[in-house]
Amino acid sequence: NSTSEKILPWTKHYDLEVPTTLNYPNVTLDELFRRSVKDHSEAIALIFFGREICYRQLGHWVNSLAGAMQKIGIQQGDRIALLLPNCPQYVMSYYAILSIGAVVVPVNPLSTESELLHIFRDGRVRVVISLDLLTGRLENVRDTCQSTGEHHILEHTFYTSLNEFMPLPIKLLYPLSRKFSAETKARLPQCKWLKPLLQQEYQPIIPIDIDLTQDIALLIYTGGTTGKPKGVMLSHKALVANAAQGASWVQMREDDRLLAVLPIFHGFGMSVCMNAPLISGSSCVLIPRFNGDDILKGIHRFHPTLFAGVPTMYIGLINHPRLARYNLSSLRGCFVGAAPLAPEVKRQFEELTQSRLMEGYGLTEAVTALCANPYNGVNKTGSIGIPFADVIMQVRDIETGEKLLQPLEIGEIVLTGPEIMLGYYNQPQETGSAIREGWLHTGDIGYMDEEGYFYIVDRKKDMIITGGFNVYPREVEDVLYQHPAVKEACVIGIPDDYKGERVKAFITLKTDVMVEEQEIITFCRQHLLPYKAPQLIEIRPDLPMTAIGKILKRTLREPSSPAPTET
Ligand code: AMP
Repeated sequence: NSTSEKILPWTKHYDLEVPTTLNYPNVTLDELFRRSVKDHSEAIALIFFGREICYRQLGHWVNSLAGAMQKIGIQQGDRIALLLPNCPQYVMSYYAILSIGAVVVPVNPLSTESELLHIFRDGRVRVVISLDLLTGRLENVRDTCQSTGEHHILEHTFYTSLNEFMPLPIKLLYPLSRKFSAETKARLPQCKWLKPLLQQEYQPIIPIDIDLTQDIALLIYTGGTTGKPKGVMLSHKALVANAAQGASWVQMREDDRLLAVLPIFHGFGMSVCMNAPLISGSSCVLIPRFNGDDILKGIHRFHPTLFAGVPTMYIGLINHPRLARYNLSSLRGCFVGAAPLAPEVKRQFEELTQSRLMEGYGLTEAVTALCANPYNGVNKTGSIGIPFADVIMQVRDIETGEKLLQPLEIGEIVLTGPEIMLGYYNQPQETGSAIREGWLHTGDIGYMDEEGYFYIVDRKKDMIITGGFNVYPREVEDVLYQHPAVKEACVIGIPDDYKGERVKAFITLKTDVMVEEQEIITFCRQHLLPYKAPQLIEIRPDLPMTAIGKILKRTLREPSSPAPTET
C-alpha cells in the first residue's frame, strides 16, 4: 500500500514475516503524529462516547494547546502531570507537551494524596492537567506544597471535565461524571479550565531544539511493590522506536481501529493503544474505564479490528454471561501482556470468539511491550513470543546476571534495544543495578526455546522457597485455571517456621458454582509435584488489582495494608 509506505517508513519490512530492523525517522513522536494529521486529515483519529474526532481537529487542538502553554511560560524540560482517564484531552495534552519539549508525567487518576505528593515532589512536577472530579484531592496536595514553601510544584493546575469537548453532556452516558464530593464541589469555582486555554488567540509553537536520545520525553512512575515508585526516564527516541515497532509488528494500517480500554497512563496502553495507531493514521476508540460490558459493547458498536488487554480482561470476557450475544467478528487480532496468561484462558478465549490471541511481554523500563508472538507467524501458547525489531533478548544466570544460558535453561531475562530507559530519575544506584553495560536486567525469570521463542516462568521476587525447593507461583496458577470452578487465581508464599514458606492460593469462583477448598488442593496434587501444590486455599469474592488489571500480590501478602493504586 503506497500511502502507508509514505507515512510509515518501516512498512517496507512488511513482506518479512518478522522484521529484524526498522528505519526510525529522526523526529519526535509528536512530529510523527503531525505527519498523520497531514496525510489523513479527515480520517477519524479518536472515537469517544460515539463522538468522532478527525486528525485535523485533534492536530488543531494539539497545536493550539502547545502554543498556549508556551505563552503562559511553560518551558522545555518542565514536567507536566496528566491525571486523566482515557479521553481526548489526554491525547491532545500528551502530544502538546511533547511538542514544546516538556516532559509528560502520566499518573493514575485514582492515586491517593500521599502517592500524588510523592510523584509531584520527586518528579518536580510544575503543571498538572486533571479531571474536575479530582479537584479536592489535588488542591489539598497543592496546599501542602505551598505551605512547605515548595512553590515550584504545581504552579499551574488545569482541570477538564469529560463533557468539556463533547457536544452532548456525557453525564447521561457516564455515571462517573456525577460523583462530585462535597470538597470537590466547594473548590470547583476556583478551577482553571483547559478549554479556555485552547481558545486563546492562536499562538504558533516556538520551535525548540530536542536531543532525541538524551532529552526526557516521559517520566513514568513504576515499581511500587518495593518501596516508593521510581520515575522511569524515557527519551523521545524510545517512544518513537516502541510505537514504530508495535505498529510494524501488527502491520497497523490506516483502516485499523483499536479499542483502547487499557489505561493510556500505563506504558502498555500508551504505546499500543495510543501512539502506535496515531502514527499509523488509524483510529482509537477511547474507553475511560474497563469492565466486561464496556469492552463487549465497544467491540459490538465500534467494530475495532484490534484489541489489547491484560489477562484479567480476557478472564472477564470468557466468563461474561452475555458473551455470545455480541458480534466480535470485526477483530483481526487480540493482544495480551503485562501479566501471565494461563494457557487455559487463551484456549477458551480463542474457542469462544474465534479470534487469535497473541501474548507479548514488556516493562515500563523499556516503554512497554518489546516482544510478542508474531502476527504472521507461529503463535505459541504459553510463550511471550520473539523480540521486536532491534530488540535483543537473552537469558543469563540468575545469580550474577552475566553468564549467557543455553536454550531451555532457566535464568534471568536481560534485554537491550532503542527503547530502554535513560534510567530512574535521581536514583543512580537503582539505575546502575538495573542497566549494566547497556543491558536491562528485568528481574523476570524465563527461558528461550530452540526456535528463539521466550517464556516467562515468573518474577524473581515472586519465587517461593518451601523446604528448600523453588516453586514458581505461575506454574501453580496455570493448574488452578484448569479447574472448572476457578475464575481467577493467585499464588503466594506465606511465612512458615518449619519450611520457610508455604504455598497459598487465592481464588475467585465462576458464577453459580460451589467448591470446597479441599477439592482444589486435591486437584492441584493430581497435576503438580507435592511440594508445589498449595497447602492453603482462600476463596475470595474478588482479588485486588492494579490500575491496569494485574493481580496485586503485595496486597495479598499484607492483608491489613490499604489497597494501593500502583500501575
Ligand atoms: P510494568 O512495568 O507495570 O509494565 O510491569 C512489567 C512486569 O510485568 C514485567 O517485569 C513482568 O514481570 C510482568 N509481565 C509483563 N508481561 C508479562 C507476560 N506476558 N507474562 C508474565 N509477566 C509479564
